Amino acid sequence: MGKLIYLDNAATTAVREEVVEAMLPYYADEYGNPSGLYEFGATSKEAIENARKKIADTLSAKPEEIYFTSGGTESDNWALNAAASASRNKKNHIITSKIEHHAILNTCEFLKTTGIEVTYIDVDENGFVNLNQLRRAIRPATALISIMFANNEIGTIQPIKEIGAIAKRHNIPFHTDAVQAFGHVNINPRQYGIDMLSASAHKFNGPKGIGFLYISDDVDIGPFIHGGGQERKKRAGTENVAGIVGMAKAAELAVSTINERAKKEIWLRDYMIRRIENEIPYVRLNGSRKRRLPGNTNFSFQFIEGESLILMLDMEGICAASGSACSSGSTKPSHVLMALGLPDNIAYSALRMTISDRNTKEEIDFAVDAVKRIVEDLRKNSSEYEEFANTEYKYK
Ligand code: PLP
Repeated sequence: MGKLIYLDNAATTAVREEVVEAMLPYYADEYGNPSGLYEFGATSKEAIENARKKIADTLSAKPEEIYFTSGGTESDNWALNAAASASRNKKNHIITSKIEHHAILNTCEFLKTTGIEVTYIDVDENGFVNLNQLRRAIRPATALISIMFANNEIGTIQPIKEIGAIAKRHNIPFHTDAVQAFGHVNINPRQYGIDMLSASAHKFNGPKGIGFLYISDDVDIGPFIHGGGQERKKRAGTENVAGIVGMAKAAELAVSTINERAKKEIWLRDYMIRRIENEIPYVRLNGSRKRRLPGNTNFSFQFIEGESLILMLDMEGICAASGSACSSGSTKPSHVLMALGLPDNIAYSALRMTISDRNTKEEIDFAVDAVKRIVEDLRKNSSEYEEFANTEYKYK
């Protein structure tokens, strides 16, 4: 196979060389248990605390507000479960949106079986949560508002400050799933009114299986994993020292280069959007044109199936994602695209290509040329398209 063109950076990112280098000593020589009382363990403990400080600095937060987890999914589970159990009997209501990641949605579905009530807020055709509906959904029993910072499929960035302000006005803790946003857009939890924030290292050029939950020291939430005394008794288990060190290095690099990377990604993204919209008919850009993640593109190509497009792009060495998810053997259109109000066939025809600062204009051109050719070929074989083209021709 020729060169790989990686355009699935929302799924995961390449681990930076400096990150691997920072991690290696903690797999090789520095393997001491951070809880050990000897000097050898203290080296690992120190590495963890340095990492905590570095990550806190990227958010202008305090080190004791950072808790290490196994990734975005665990951080999301912790935030929702803790809010639900802390308020049991008194407050039994969570507000979230219809376009959250399944780490949030499926946790909410689980919590419903334990007596928690959940309100799912609608979004508009660009994926922005309906703030009026959010205000109206608030009850005396509301224990938590959890709205994602930016969406993983369509890249829409929510009005987080406004949501934070609404939550503060009603004295309700506000959690945001910032797994797609951290390291890609500037975030200051205190300024934004965020009480809890989930992040995951593999989305910002760090290792997989490590993440963190920021918990403001203004909120008091209970432990998630019970056992030893690690993470101030809130998240037990011997720490993933190498992962934590790698995540801190990745966070430091990501946040210190955020503006220059975003500038390059936005240029490539807008170039790709322009070419696709100008050169391919019957296409829709999904997500907001203005407030979207620097590297995100998501298009629906009418009359074709996103899945077929992905498979054919793969044959040309291009990695991209579609707008549907395989669950228990059946392919369902994405809940995010459905929440935008798109008909099934348009949701099924989606293609997500997510760009990083490592991509080049040549790669984008290669990918756009391939998409153009494949969409044309697939449409030639589509009876729906044939019917449409004939009708259009007849009435011209
Ligand atoms: N939340 C969002 C918005 C995501 O995009 C993802 C990963 O795709 C997750 C949560 C889950 O993160 P992790 O893979 O670290 O468990």
